Amino acid sequence: MEQKIYGLPEGMNDKKTSFCPGCSHMAAYRTIVESLNELNERDNAVIVRPIGCSLNADYSFDIHAIQSMHGRASAVATGVARMHPEKTVLAYQGDGDAHSIGIAECLYAANRGEKMTCIVINNSVYGMTGGQMSGTTLLGQRTTTGIREFDNQGAPIHVAEMIAQLEAPGYVARAALYTPKDIMQAKKFMVKALRCQKELGKYSYIELLSFCPTNWGVKPVDCIKYAQENVLPVYPVGELKTCF
Ligand code: SF4
Repeated sequence: MEQKIYGLPEGMNDKKTSFCPGCSHMAAYRTIVESLNELNERDNAVIVRPIGCSLNADYSFDIHAIQSMHGRASAVATGVARMHPEKTVLAYQGDGDAHSIGIAECLYAANRGEKMTCIVINNSVYGMTGGQMSGTTLLGQRTTTGIREFDNQGAPIHVAEMIAQLEAPGYVARAALYTPKDIMQAKKFMVKALRCQKELGKYSYIELLSFCPTNWGVKPVDCIKYAQENVLPVYPVGELKTCF
């Protein structure tokens, strides 16, 4: 029997998606939609999505969307932002996408101070493409391409901290989508990121720590404990740079 989802914000519907059970993408999207609604910017927003699990949400959200190649969302978003400076432009990327295959596009969009918001779903692994190791994979984490070791692959990369020390970005933050309290904080950061872009014409970056039970090999019910014990010590949450 189809289950009805109540209390969805305007701009979100209850059409079925193919996200795995326990995935954080829906919480991320809800955070984005609610923040855009609060700022009355949803109709004016354009979201650029590359290859990745976020595509599973295609029919669930009423936001103008553009598909880019893998890793190139920040580059495509740059083009949209320059051609349509009146738009609220979002690049919605995964860590495999923004912190590995597309790290050049991600960092240089930040360094140029493009008028856009880059949102990175960091679940420390390539999701849709099969659970391969990404730049943010934790030391000792098992992936389909091996176990990360410092001597072989180096430490997990901290892109939020790298972007925060650049001159141009206006707002940089990392939040988690683990508990309801975390999600409320993520929403607060998201609104600030979008306001920084819209009101001050600056580049914003927000990283959202997320679950990927399928590729972690962790049951959805155990993900909060796993993430709190393993991810948060490596990736602390908070604002790294703010324009307000
Ligand atoms: S593979 Fe991971 S990120 Fe992708 S839908 Fe499944 S749980 Fe979510």
